[in-house]
Amino acid sequence: MSAGGPGGGGLSRRQFLGRGLAVVAAAAASGCRVEELIGRSFRELSRDDVARVLARAARRQSARFGRPVTVDGAGPLPGVDFGYGLDLSRCIGCRRCVTACVKENNPSRRRPQIQWIKVLELDKARGVDLAHADAYYEADAVPRPGHFYMPVQCQQCRKPPCVKVCPVGATWKEPDGIVVVDYDWCIGCRCCMSACPYGARHFNWAEPDLPADELNPSTHYLGNRPRPKGVVEKCTFCIQRVRHGRYPACVEACPVGARKFGNLLDPESEIRQVMERKRVFVLKEDLGTQPQFYYFYAT
Ligand code: SF4
Ligand code: SF4
Repeated sequence: MSAGGPGGGGLSRRQFLGRGLAVVAAAAASGCRVEELIGRSFRELSRDDVARVLARAARRQSARFGRPVTVDGAGPLPGVDFGYGLDLSRCIGCRRCVTACVKENNPSRRRPQIQWIKVLELDKARGVDLAHADAYYEADAVPRPGHFYMPVQCQQCRKPPCVKVCPVGATWKEPDGIVVVDYDWCIGCRCCMSACPYGARHFNWAEPDLPADELNPSTHYLGNRPRPKGVVEKCTFCIQRVRHGRYPACVEACPVGARKFGNLLDPESEIRQVMERKRVFVLKEDLGTQPQFYYFYAT
């Protein structure tokens, strides 16, 4: 995080904001535009600026990990609105989606250990009763008789409360439905974490622990780019993959085909077939967040 916007150098953005008034006064005195001093969030950059920012981010990450890292900035495609389906009748709770997600998305491995997908074990007799869900069950013994499994991750809400509360506009919803975070713009206030009703956001309390030999070097600026200490992160439907026509890593890893993904605007897509043929439900519907993540029972 730097005062110069994405990839800029020097003062951290938080320190910078803390000194806000003094800086504004100094800017006025020097004839410099405040905007130039504080930089801009990724979504406000011109195409030329984006190219510069991506190249700089790639250089920095390559130097940080001692191996080549690419930082992509692929934007949303017209006519695409992503949706995700999860078949609760198939999920066996093996957590392979969690492992694949970690491998793909470069979260901190230990202290803090960050995982964007949480799989809950629930009692069949109680149904979807989140108050009695167990997120720490033994994965070796699945599926346990009398239980079913419910993976939870960012629901990419159409009305995301996390976006509404961010005081600096560091998180927003893209036109293809993905809610993203600009890690260089996040000030680490964690308001979005408090606002998210799904526990889908995670905070880097310490310098992320990501060994160079575990790094996925193909990254997206708003997705799996390695994060600094003090910022919030979350699932992006694997933005670095899906904007290039690939499936999210969790979809590919699921051994029982419980995960479905695609373009909600395409009548031929798998997710549209699910929406049209199955009874789907969303988590905490009463909150009005309108998730783009749908649960269903195929059988
Ligand atoms: S699930 Fe949480 S983090 Fe994801 S869009 Fe909804 S409110 Fe935001
Ligand atoms: S990989 Fe598939 S079956 Fe395993 S926990 Fe994840 S969704 Fe369920």
